[in-house]
Amino acid sequence: MEQEPWDLAVVGAGPAGSVCACSALGTHEGIRVALIDRETFPRDKPCGDAIRQDAVSVLEELKLNAIFAGRSRIDRSRLNFPHKFQYLKKLIDFDRYTYYIVERKLFDTALYEAAIQRGAHDLTGYTMNGAVFDESAGLWNLTIKQRRGCDVLIRARVLVGADGASSRVRRVAGLELNSEKHVAVGVRAYAQLEGFDKGALQIDFLGRLIPGYGWIFPLQNNKVNIGVGLDIRDYKAAGKSLKSHLDDYVQYLAREGLVIHDLNNISTHPLPLAFSELPLVPQRQVALIGDAAAMIDPFTGEGIHFGIWAGYALGRAVSEGLREQCLLSAMERFETTYTDKFDSLMEDSQQLRVMLRFQRMLI
Ligand SMILES: Cc1cc2nc3c(=O)[nH]c(=O)nc-3n(C[C@H](O)[C@H](O)[C@H](O)COP(=O)(O)OP(=O)(O)OC[C@H]3O[C@@H](n4cnc5c(N)ncnc54)[C@H](O)[C@@H]3O)c2cc1C
Repeated sequence: MEQEPWDLAVVGAGPAGSVCACSALGTHEGIRVALIDRETFPRDKPCGDAIRQDAVSVLEELKLNAIFAGRSRIDRSRLNFPHKFQYLKKLIDFDRYTYYIVERKLFDTALYEAAIQRGAHDLTGYTMNGAVFDESAGLWNLTIKQRRGCDVLIRARVLVGADGASSRVRRVAGLELNSEKHVAVGVRAYAQLEGFDKGALQIDFLGRLIPGYGWIFPLQNNKVNIGVGLDIRDYKAAGKSLKSHLDDYVQYLAREGLVIHDLNNISTHPLPLAFSELPLVPQRQVALIGDAAAMIDPFTGEGIHFGIWAGYALGRAVSEGLREQCLLSAMERFETTYTDKFDSLMEDSQQLRVMLRFQRMLI
């Protein structure tokens, strides 16, 4: 596969990576983009499937919003707290946002397919195992491999790590993954639930697991996305599986009169939570976006719209930087714009999370 270097090698075709590819291709027609993912699509991703309006607006800009056609927009939430935390209802206001709930299998596949249709070179089914920067050529050499294939070398001017919670690119760039202080874990399933209010998100803050919570998010035809997310330290201290936490939640709901049927597709995944010291452009010609860059709100656990926003901004920055021969400053500008926009929000969320963990000891 020895060939002309790619302008952009995007590792990870989740929402952050696919949007980055679409954005780069839409900004600069001649740009050569390789989109690499170890999975082939359609693929599932454990998630609450709740996509906030901010992401929808970016996707509209890229004409990628057809996926929401025929789906209802949700603009209400039901938050349930233990008695001593009722005051939080005034503090936490999910109702200022609107959401679409779309199964990630469908959502991610639509974004990946759009990236390929718009000209990204399809390297799904390939795992990126390593990358080294060749100073003299100013290029990244990436080693990628199909499941039963041999190593293949590709070269690229810019390497984008959109490869999720266990990002290989982040480690190649010399950064460790999040310490436990900034990690949550979640379990997600699909189920049937009759008589559920389809116009609202339900969020149940679960006693001693606060700031962790259980959720039910409505899909179509009485299908719901149901799950539980909690701090990894609380998960380890509780000493039971995430599936058991989900079972506890299902029992809690039954006591509240919500009887869940046909629990299926149960899967678990870590959530790398945002913290401010992490660089998004850790080395020359490499950038991190999405979960690879820990772009998850430490309190709500949402990461899709931050990853999409970053993918969009980075794709544009790299394209413009290549076209106008000011790549490094364009990438630095991307980092500054992202941190200016989201750092204080993430810090407030982190403080709320720490405060709630402390206060729940008083229950
Ligand atoms: C249980 C749970 C519930 C959640 N609920 C919500 C929610 O309701 N709303 C919300 O906004 N956020 C939610 N999140 C967070 C959200 O799922 C993530 O923030 C989002 O998926 C990040 O997208 P991404 O594109 O960065 O990474 P991903 O979607 O994880 O995609 C990364 C891709 O990289 C590929 N990859 C990884 N390593 C390699 C490699 N070495 N080589 C090639 N490819 C590789 C993977 O196959 C994958 O396709 C939830 C998370 C969890 C765990």
